[in-house]
Amino acid sequence: QFRPARRIANIGVSEILKIGARAAQLKREGRPVIVLGAGEPDFDTPDHVKDAAVAAIRAGQTKYTTLDGTPEMKAAVCGKLQRENGLAYEPAEITVGAGAKQVIHNALMATLDEGDEVVIAAPFWTSYADMVIIAGGVPVPVVGREENGFRLDAADLEAAITPRTRWLMLNSPSNPTGSAYTPADLRPLCDVLLRHPQVWLMSDEIYEHLCYGNFTCTSPVSVEPALRERTLIVNGVSKSYAMTGWRVGYGAGPRALIAAMAVVQSQSTTNPSSISQAAAIEALNGPQELLKERRASFEKRRDLVVQALNAIPGLSCRKPEGAFYAFAGCVGVIGRKTPSGEVLQTDADFCRYLLEEHDVAVVPGSIFGLAPYFRISYATAEAELRTAMTRIARAVEALS
Ligand code: PLP
Repeated sequence: QFRPARRIANIGVSEILKIGARAAQLKREGRPVIVLGAGEPDFDTPDHVKDAAVAAIRAGQTKYTTLDGTPEMKAAVCGKLQRENGLAYEPAEITVGAGAKQVIHNALMATLDEGDEVVIAAPFWTSYADMVIIAGGVPVPVVGREENGFRLDAADLEAAITPRTRWLMLNSPSNPTGSAYTPADLRPLCDVLLRHPQVWLMSDEIYEHLCYGNFTCTSPVSVEPALRERTLIVNGVSKSYAMTGWRVGYGAGPRALIAAMAVVQSQSTTNPSSISQAAAIEALNGPQELLKERRASFEKRRDLVVQALNAIPGLSCRKPEGAFYAFAGCVGVIGRKTPSGEVLQTDADFCRYLLEEHDVAVVPGSIFGLAPYFRISYATAEAELRTAMTRIARAVEALS
């Protein structure tokens, strides 16, 4: 009989994927489901990036590459960090993996011993906790309060740190809340970290290019350069350049960490796809104008969604600074009854009701570590978003 390893025994298939599968099934049955679940831009990969991949294939770049990124790819990452973040990194301080996800996995596998703790700023991308568990660690979520824009509070961080704490995982702009940290928000967190030299910082900046209004994203390493020697900056091309399927992410950090991560990658996937790296080099080095256009369109969608949510009695949503997620509170619908007589007891009940009876797929906040909320991914055409918001309004109206 099959017996899974203890390290994965309590990890289920991602709830987001399950909701996506149910939505797909309803669609196949002919239902007009609108899916606001997935964390994926609806835009296509830019043509000049696709062309670079085709050229790479034609030029025979179809073999193994250097283990953790080609020299050209690492140079492109160094160039990006210097140009956009004012941070100087050497190629030996850069690692390239099959998505930011592999970079995070490598870092955790390379550093965690059984029982080591990882503080995770919550609400958080669900994968963080599961990846920590797979690496043998213990996730320690610390919830940011909504009044504080869901941001991690420095005193709460300090209280969560123990001698076993190895990492703080921070994600700005955040999945699922869209909240982002200003330098002033980061300062007190940096101060706490300075007092605890055993704690490294994993700064997931994958939504960096998706900041709205006059908000600009800042890396904690820019705020406190002394943290550079124990920070892993995580980033990638998936979200910024609409390249989720290409699987290229990168990390920047101290050489010893980068070398240890290469050991993990060398015994799992080896190099990320040679063709995808060629495409990612073009994304990083090529024209960047498209980013602005796409950012403007995401910003319009954010405004539309947040406004619509706040107009629905019982729901509320703070205006996020970035990413393409809105994290809405739904405490006002909990305890109410659906037309078929079900009492909504949790945010998951509410999300199921929205999907099964009103054809909108969203994800409950509980899976990100905070309830009762739900996450809307607004990386979807405006017309669809409008229809979805109307459906959610009707769904709430129908409750008694
Ligand atoms: N980090 C965060 C916060 C994410 O939301 C995601 C994707 O959903 C990733 C990392 C992974 O991105 P990649 O496609 O580069 O693996």
